[in-house]
Amino acid sequence: MKEIVILGAGYAGLKALRHLQADKGDFHITLVDRNEYHYEATDLHEVAAGTQPKGKITFPIADVVKGSTTFERAEVKEIDRKQQKVMLKNGKTLAYDYLIIALGFRSESFGIKGVAENALEMVDVKTAENVYQHIVEQMKDYAITKNKDDLRIVVCGAGFTGIELLGALEDSRKKLAAMAGVEPEKLQFYCVEAVTRLLPMFDEKLADYGISMLKSWGIKFLTGKPIKEIKPDTVIYQDDKETGATKELTAKTIIWTTGVSGSNVMEASGFSQRRGRVMVSPGLTDTEFSNVYIVGDVSAVMNAENNRPYPTTAQIALSMGEHAAKNILSQLKGGSITPFTFKSLGSVASIGNTHAFGLVGKSMVKGYPASFVKKMIMDKSLLETGGVKELLSKGRFDLYH
Ligand code: NAD
Repeated sequence: MKEIVILGAGYAGLKALRHLQADKGDFHITLVDRNEYHYEATDLHEVAAGTQPKGKITFPIADVVKGSTTFERAEVKEIDRKQQKVMLKNGKTLAYDYLIIALGFRSESFGIKGVAENALEMVDVKTAENVYQHIVEQMKDYAITKNKDDLRIVVCGAGFTGIELLGALEDSRKKLAAMAGVEPEKLQFYCVEAVTRLLPMFDEKLADYGISMLKSWGIKFLTGKPIKEIKPDTVIYQDDKETGATKELTAKTIIWTTGVSGSNVMEASGFSQRRGRVMVSPGLTDTEFSNVYIVGDVSAVMNAENNRPYPTTAQIALSMGEHAAKNILSQLKGGSITPFTFKSLGSVASIGNTHAFGLVGKSMVKGYPASFVKKMIMDKSLLETGGVKELLSKGRFDLYH
């Protein structure tokens, strides 16, 4: 019996698992993840802002482990492609015939001084919960200290993650202000961003629409201000490109959302990678080992239309997971590997629970209708990773509950 090992129970890993399980062929699957739950990485900002509890964006991996699948809760240490083995941090070694690496992302500091020590990251459920806990503590502290920095939150980076986090924080403004015992407008939300042209994947008007909405709620954007260092309770950014002069912004909450890299297991295992992403063959396999699939945020796959790798999104991760599973099933039956193709359905950024903006296909969507579309996108991912049971209990529309 052939052994298929899947590393990571995120979007790509679970989609691959579900596709393989549906086949009922003569193989056994081992799924490895460090958590006993799957989490929707696209919703972490809601946990960080306190608009959703952990339970709403997670479900137990056990719910989707069926038939001849074993779940191994462990952290991956290293992959040995020549020996076809995966070493786990708990000391175990797993042998495989086929491997799907779907180990996801981590926060990228770009080597900026003080990030690890003085900024909060938001890369998994634990760190997202930690952000909210931290904010709550500052609000409570303000009630005693009256230090205005307790009421200031700085989001570093205005990518999709930063924008969605700011929108969710806005939804929590009243609740947080009540904890501090102040009027909601006393809370200050800042975003410090290196470039001036925000959200380059959208046309300028659409990007401006989203940013203007956040600004209209009182959120302050410092754009064209690359962050140079994070000191305790202080963001140091370049204020003047010509002279390099810097300025400081003080705050008790500093959240780091300037981009992501793929899992460091890729580098530790000797893959040829850049920021944890490995350039794969057209069929999503390692360029040397056709039994090793690399999918999701650890994978870089070229978009033939613009000769650049596709951006890492949940949508493409799901699609890659399914494609890897299809190719393995074909290989098991003596067939060949087919190249991966991807047609983006568009991307929508939420700004709080009732606003959003983005593209569906080539059409712009804005405001409440866009927020409806965003919830449909989230529910589609949930259905594809968790199935109907998870959709009914965790889906975004009240009609399920
Ligand atoms: P990102 O790379 O898309 O954005 C990071 C932002 O931080 C950029 O605007 C960048 O200019 C800025 N930045 C980088 N270094 C900086 C510095 N030193 N000082 C100030 N600003 C700095 O990263 P992300 O937002 O974490 O998103 C990661 C990936 O996940 C992207 O591909 C994104 O499209 C995807 N994503 C998608 C969704 C969605 O579809 N709704 C949501 C979240 C993330």
